[in-house]
Amino acid sequence: MSIPLLLAELRRRGILLKADAHRLLYRPAEAMTPDLLERVQACKSVLLELLRGEIAVSDVERRSEAESHREVIDPPSPCAACGGLELWETVTGRWRCLRCDPPTTSRHIFALAERIRRQER
Ligand SMILES: [Zn+2]
Repeated sequence: MSIPLLLAELRRRGILLKADAHRLLYRPAEAMTPDLLERVQACKSVLLELLRGEIAVSDVERRSEAESHREVIDPPSPCAACGGLELWETVTGRWRCLRCDPPTTSRHIFALAERIRRQER
């Protein structure tokens, strides 16, 4: 859920947010649902910035739009060895060449590491 949608939902329920130093306060407590609270907590730092007037809702919209398009704007560079553009992302967020470094090898190593870890316990 985007910040503007979250704010609209809070407003609809009559929930007021307040910034108190690094804490985010809300009232009335009974209007908050566990699901909504989870979303508020997930966006806490941005909501605090908004409440302090450091940023505007339009900034948040622009920012989230830039974030959702990051992969399109900044695609992973082609493989240095073969120039291939078919890449895959590892669990650690690194890009590997599908031809030079197929995921099967990595998956095999990962499975092996998992097995070793389990045996150590
Ligand atoms: Zn390659």
